[in-house]
Amino acid sequence: MTNTPRVTVWNEFRHERQQPAVRAIYPDGIHTTLAASLRAHGLDARTATLDDPEQGLGEAVLGATDVLVWWGHVAHHEVADELVDRVQGRVLAGMGLVVLHSGHASKIFRRLMGTTCDLKWRVGDDRELLWVVAPGHPIAAGLGERIVIDREEMYGEHFDVPAPETLVFVSWFSGGEVFRSGACYTRGAGRIFYFRPGHETLPTYHHPDVQRVIANAARWAAPTYAARPMYGNVPPAAPES
Ligand code: ZN
Repeated sequence: MTNTPRVTVWNEFRHERQQPAVRAIYPDGIHTTLAASLRAHGLDARTATLDDPEQGLGEAVLGATDVLVWWGHVAHHEVADELVDRVQGRVLAGMGLVVLHSGHASKIFRRLMGTTCDLKWRVGDDRELLWVVAPGHPIAAGLGERIVIDREEMYGEHFDVPAPETLVFVSWFSGGEVFRSGACYTRGAGRIFYFRPGHETLPTYHHPDVQRVIANAARWAAPTYAARPMYGNVPPAAPES
């Protein structure tokens, strides 16, 4: 184990291959853009996609992953349930998970949240301001008081997720809606961060502040390895007790 988190960027990689407008923004896929940005921020990043063997979520891949970054949209239902079980197990054992944008509706995020994770949305001409509401948090490191995205898809409340353990960003949209855009959770030993921006027809993942947040989140979500807890029937821990 080195001090540099090993990040795997998982992408369903469908829009980029099927829609020229998306391919124009992400010629090699969203995952490739994100991995390059993570490397530029000093992280060890590789990629995996839905059409890889074992849907990119094989034991060897996950075993070499400290933090999994997840982008999916049209193919959530294609992800095999047993692989969702596997990813959930890895998160509970300490692997970090950074869920991006439309990943809110992925099987793995809904499983880990236990709610519908539903929300309002609109692809229009909205401007988005993401206000930092936890300025001391490591995920906000290096940012100003807000991130400005000139055009993004709107996601609006109510967002049907459990109350975040820490809320790092609140978005305001020019259409009037607000949204909890950066939400931290723990499940078992694993840390989870949901980050809202990243609609596929817009160049959001080229935005330096957005890239910085994802890199910060990967560092924050990296596991802290400790002794594996023991469960079940045990003798007294202290002989004198
Ligand atoms: Zn979208």
